[in-house]
Amino acid sequence: MSYDSRTELYQQVILEHNKNPRNYRKLEHANHTSEGYNPLCGDHLTVYLHVNKDDIIDDITFEGDGCAISRASSSMMTVALKGKTIKEAKELFRQFHLLVTGELNPEKDAHTLGKLSVFSGIWHFPARVKCASLAWHTMNGSLENVKTVSTE
Ligand code: ZN
Repeated sequence: MSYDSRTELYQQVILEHNKNPRNYRKLEHANHTSEGYNPLCGDHLTVYLHVNKDDIIDDITFEGDGCAISRASSSMMTVALKGKTIKEAKELFRQFHLLVTGELNPEKDAHTLGKLSVFSGIWHFPARVKCASLAWHTMNGSLENVKTVSTE
């Protein structure tokens, strides 16, 4: 894919998820919840997970205020993680972190990121990396019983 078509796809995906975020609600029966803050941008969100006895994330939602990138990234994360095991979620978090810091090239390196790979290229904008990864750090925090996660 050319740089221009990749950038265009990225913009379309961000706009679409920002306008119509998936799984945007409080999850009343959540058994893992964490709040995430990105003071640099002002993003603030809560991630709710329900993990069943087989260690499968059978529901995941989020709420909060933030920029388009943080909202779109949160929305896409919930879609990607629903139905995954905790182990798979942690592996995706690892890959996503490598992707947004420019250490994983989705066109060359093996990965299971699927649509999340639209965030490749964001490492050119260091301030935006925190917006894109806030939901993931918050989700990971909730699994580690860390109630509040800050990017600073
Ligand atoms: Zn932001």
